[in-house]
Amino acid sequence: MSQQPTHSLPSYLNADDLGPWGIYLEQIERVTPYLGSLSKWVETLKRPKRVLMVDVPIELDNGTIAHFEGYRVQHNTSRGPGKGGIRFHQDVTLSEVMALSGWMSIKCAAVNVPFGGAKGGIRINPHEHSQREVERVARRYIHEVRPIIGPNQDIPAPDVNTNGQTMAWMMDAYSQLVGTTTPGIVTGKPISLGGSLGRVEATGRGVFVTGVEAAKDKGIDLNGARVVVQGFGNVGGTAARLFHESGSKVIAVQDHTGTIFNEQGLDVPAVLQHVADTGGVAGAPNAEAIDPASFWQIENEFLIPAALENQITADNAHSLRTKILIEGANGPTTPEADDILSDKGVWIIPDVIANAGGVTVSYFEWAQNFSSYFWDEDLINQRLEAMMRAAYRDNAAVAAQHHVSLRTAAFITACTRILEARNIRGLYP
Ligand code: GLU
Repeated sequence: MSQQPTHSLPSYLNADDLGPWGIYLEQIERVTPYLGSLSKWVETLKRPKRVLMVDVPIELDNGTIAHFEGYRVQHNTSRGPGKGGIRFHQDVTLSEVMALSGWMSIKCAAVNVPFGGAKGGIRINPHEHSQREVERVARRYIHEVRPIIGPNQDIPAPDVNTNGQTMAWMMDAYSQLVGTTTPGIVTGKPISLGGSLGRVEATGRGVFVTGVEAAKDKGIDLNGARVVVQGFGNVGGTAARLFHESGSKVIAVQDHTGTIFNEQGLDVPAVLQHVADTGGVAGAPNAEAIDPASFWQIENEFLIPAALENQITADNAHSLRTKILIEGANGPTTPEADDILSDKGVWIIPDVIANAGGVTVSYFEWAQNFSSYFWDEDLINQRLEAMMRAAYRDNAAVAAQHHVSLRTAAFITACTRILEARNIRGLYP
């Protein structure tokens, strides 16, 4: 019998420009030698289980018709239903959504949440549209991806430029379609629709908790430690507030509106209020506006990229002056930058651990929806913190055992868990 060749690249991708999926693939290749006999299943991680591309047509407020490109990618469901957010961004690509879905598989497995990985995206700049237009896009997208989502199948959540309101529209659209109010179809919902207490802050809280664990390992005192944050939305804003409340000094913040600095420490509650009022950090009180290019050269103890992918690259990694890099965003550091920073002795808490607080409380929300029994916020934060601390500690132990970075350790833990499930389930039919 002739041996079938295995191709690790789906033909629907451009081999010359793999984009974020290329980064994800490189991360998988780096850990394959650690997977032992499970490596026979590794191809399963190098191609998504299911890719759906949809056309999302809506009528604009002026009566014309606009079409948007939408995606839902289910990367892996060996350990449980697909799970992952939906982002609205003008630059969304298939490669990006694939990579983000792969990182969701790794993230859920690394912190031991019983989900597989999925992700969605729509190529739209929501800031250029009215609320009504964005609502139509959200509802129509759910109609289009409905054949592959479901509360036991694939459960979306918020991501870049989507929030509780977006989830409310999506939950309503799905519920109207199936004829039953179905809170468990999405997580990150408003509390009035069965959302979970603590969900909005969960990702930022996880960033903080893992940062505290790393600080213990690296002998850094939180009190007076300098913190620099890129992105001041849900993730960066919450993390900054928690560091600030612990006595750290948040000295610089950058977002799409500008870069602000105060060597003595910014007044974080005032910056948060300013962002709530104006939509960005530019012009916040008691802060100096600085050149965005100088942002990456500011000396600090904790650097928190909490915006988009590919922010720390071979071009700026050399100039970074930080001790602990906490990846609040997904994929902010390229593999080349990862190597440069590791050589410089920077301790990186990778996205798949650092920002897993969001999906962890999404798991709590989903479980609460299924039992229709809701937990109080203290219990949620306690359980979140315990899971985040355990994930950090377990993966730090794997890193020490194999003398590898925390990212490689998280990928070893996660790939092993996913492929053990794959192996024991077997192939059917
Ligand atoms: N979008 C978030 C992430 O990247 C949350 C996903 C979820 O809660 O399902 O982790």
